[in-house]
Amino acid sequence: MKLETLAVHAGRRKDSSTGAVAQSPILSTTFERDGDGGYPHGNVYTRALNPGRTGLEKLLTALENGAATAAFGSGSAASLAVFQALNPGDHVIAPDDVYHGTRTQLRELLARWGVEYSLIDLTDLDAVRAAVTPKTRLIWIETPSNPLLKVADIEALAAICRQAGAVCAVDSTFATPVLQQPLALGADLVMHSTTKYLGGHSDILSGAIITRSEDAFFQRIRDYQIMGGPVPAPFDCWLLQRSIATLPLRIKAQSANAQAVAEFLAGHPQVSAVHYPGLASHPGHALARRQMSGFGAMLSFQVHGGNDAAARTAARVALFTRATSLGGVESLIEHRASVEGPFSTTPKNLLRVSVGLEHPDDLIADLQQALAAD
Ligand SMILES: *Cc1c(COP(=O)(O)O)cnc(C)c1O
Repeated sequence: MKLETLAVHAGRRKDSSTGAVAQSPILSTTFERDGDGGYPHGNVYTRALNPGRTGLEKLLTALENGAATAAFGSGSAASLAVFQALNPGDHVIAPDDVYHGTRTQLRELLARWGVEYSLIDLTDLDAVRAAVTPKTRLIWIETPSNPLLKVADIEALAAICRQAGAVCAVDSTFATPVLQQPLALGADLVMHSTTKYLGGHSDILSGAIITRSEDAFFQRIRDYQIMGGPVPAPFDCWLLQRSIATLPLRIKAQSANAQAVAEFLAGHPQVSAVHYPGLASHPGHALARRQMSGFGAMLSFQVHGGNDAAARTAARVALFTRATSLGGVESLIEHRASVEGPFSTTPKNLLRVSVGLEHPDDLIADLQQALAAD
């Protein structure tokens, strides 16, 4: 079945007791045993298993064409689940412009447990090969990357992983399963901050790991999910499954809007650079064309006049909302460097934009007036 169909139907529970067409969340944390101590429905306790979470996991597994999924209470819990599956002394390669929260986990949490890491420009395959050591156990890819929208070659990096005996993981949050299928390109597992496009309405914090095979490495992730307990709430699993039904439509419409906004910005005299893989001028454009079925709805741009000019532009928007995060129906704009803190490598004149579902003419008019005054 095609992805649009799976998005509506995969993982849905039929309620034979009422015939209800719409699913309801199963909020119960505990489930009744029968007289001889058995569990007639297979459910014991929600941390270990909740029928709504299982349905969501089946849905995500179907969308990525994987073998299994572990759902988490945030994207950060999902990435940490992968890192904790490593052993002390293992080495990780991650992108030099990796999502700042992922970098913070490696620096603040994993380094203390003896996991070493190198931050490398993943668009430079020779640099990646040179960074591989006998201890390299994981290459963490993020493509397109946050916030510079760099495009990394999943197929080529997966081949490097196979040679090195390393796990190939892809943070595919910006692309969603609609635009990019990392497992089909050779990755071993896919991570999503489902807080973003899969949730789609800026009201659910959650994450997921989808794996290509239920191997020993994934079992460590599953054990951490159940024993460590960073699971999503049943209500959020329900909301997320409800949102995913419209994901294919939303991401296509938002991507078309983003293309229009990027083209407008690329022609504006006050704008010094636009980072959007859908522009022919983007260094990752050809690769994105090959690897993705669309260019997504995230972009960033730099303005002439440095930090203050960027701040003034952000201050003047009226339709865009100044806020962090991404993937919702409403368009957001953010001065990224000031959110990322002291370790940020993001240019100070950069604004990151999450393009929503408004009419692109209205979005462009808002940016036009915000840029015009400088
Ligand atoms: C937001 C985000 C994360 C972290 O997810 P949370 O749900 O905020 O914990 C990880 N990677 C990327 C690319 C993100 O945008």
